[in-house]
Amino acid sequence: MEKNQISLPVDDLPKKWYNILPDLPEPLPPPKEPDEGPSRLEFLAKTMTKECLSQESSSQRWIAIPEEVRELYIQAGRPRPLYRARRLEKHLKLKKTRLYYKREDLSPTGSHKTNTALAQAYFASREGKRVLITETGAGQWGTALAHAARLAGLECVVFWVRSVYDWKVDRRTLMQLLGAKVYASPSKQTRMGREILARDVNHHGSLGIAVSEGLEYTEEHEGSVYCLGSVLNHVLMHQTIIGLETIKQFELIDDQPDLIVGCLGGGSNFGGISLPFVGEVLKKKRECEFLAAQTMASPSLLKGRYEYDFGDVGEHTPLMKMYTLGHKTEMKPIKADGLRYHAAAPIISLLRHRGIVKATAYPTDERAVFEAAKIFLQCEGWLIAPESSYAVRAGIDEAVKNEKIGQEKAICMNISGHGFLDIPAYKEKILS
Ligand SMILES: *Cc1c(COP(=O)(O)O)cnc(C)c1O
Repeated sequence: MEKNQISLPVDDLPKKWYNILPDLPEPLPPPKEPDEGPSRLEFLAKTMTKECLSQESSSQRWIAIPEEVRELYIQAGRPRPLYRARRLEKHLKLKKTRLYYKREDLSPTGSHKTNTALAQAYFASREGKRVLITETGAGQWGTALAHAARLAGLECVVFWVRSVYDWKVDRRTLMQLLGAKVYASPSKQTRMGREILARDVNHHGSLGIAVSEGLEYTEEHEGSVYCLGSVLNHVLMHQTIIGLETIKQFELIDDQPDLIVGCLGGGSNFGGISLPFVGEVLKKKRECEFLAAQTMASPSLLKGRYEYDFGDVGEHTPLMKMYTLGHKTEMKPIKADGLRYHAAAPIISLLRHRGIVKATAYPTDERAVFEAAKIFLQCEGWLIAPESSYAVRAGIDEAVKNEKIGQEKAICMNISGHGFLDIPAYKEKILS
């Protein structure tokens, strides 16, 4: 019997994260101060943990995962399996294309974000912090941080984009069960939130506004630390646990991916699975292509410009060189709200600029991607997150394209999360 599930023994959980910075084809453009206003770099240094700040610009290729964090990873179900999608292959009548998927949907809070949340919570507690503050869009990051804070014995405060807060009631309940304080953003908790609400009480919010609120709140509350769930270098590095496991899993079955596909909002799940492979491609140790699947609501890698921009609407962050649509851009709300961000991580942006990473984007009616999620559920039996359905859509499209070319090819999709808390979105998009 050919096995569809490729599992890694617990003892084979990687002991180090991979930091791609020293291996990039050119130095990553450093963050910069804007011409006006207070120092953003000093501000960031004040709000983050020292460990994450030092990892952000580290030139060390391999960074040891503390034993305590490895234990938390194992507690959260790592290593996660890789699957061969034989049933989907059969449905699509694939002859030349092998489809695989990595199971980040098996996380306790439903997404890959626990990989960095657990690390950040551990570093914060080691540095004597008491409260973790953050923003969340789709709600996955807020839930992951609430979970990590609880396991590390810390408190957690979450600013949640109002347009999503209002309809994802069950995810809100999960965060609250984990003991987090959850505010709809724009909120009355901060000066910025109050200003926006004064102009428009029904403002639906954005990830950028929520970031600004979280940073302002952190600055005003002793013992608190701000945690970011994507975009920054250290976040992508924590996520490399995904790709490092995947490399070992492909070795176990003596196969290798020719194409890796992931959905991309800020770039953390895509970077997490891709970067360990990119590192080997850069060293000419393997050949592999990388495709990021985005939404037309925020197609940063396709329509953005590669230039310095702020990471948030409130301009609290330093300027980072990224593919960006502009930090003040209004983006249409979609169900896969985790993909709605104006820019892509600096590391991914540089790789895009160098032609190593490619991108595609799907329309905001989301019909094509929800259809892919339905096919995936009915073939493979797993309900994935709306965000992950962009990766599956792109994986299916690439497989169909490859069948026409007729070459042997292995495609690996990253399933960034599960869809059990997104049932209302599925009901609206598929059943009605
Ligand atoms: C947050 C999230 C994303 C998008 O964020 P990235 O940093 O681009 O990975 C994608 N899928 C899920 C399930 C998420 O929670």
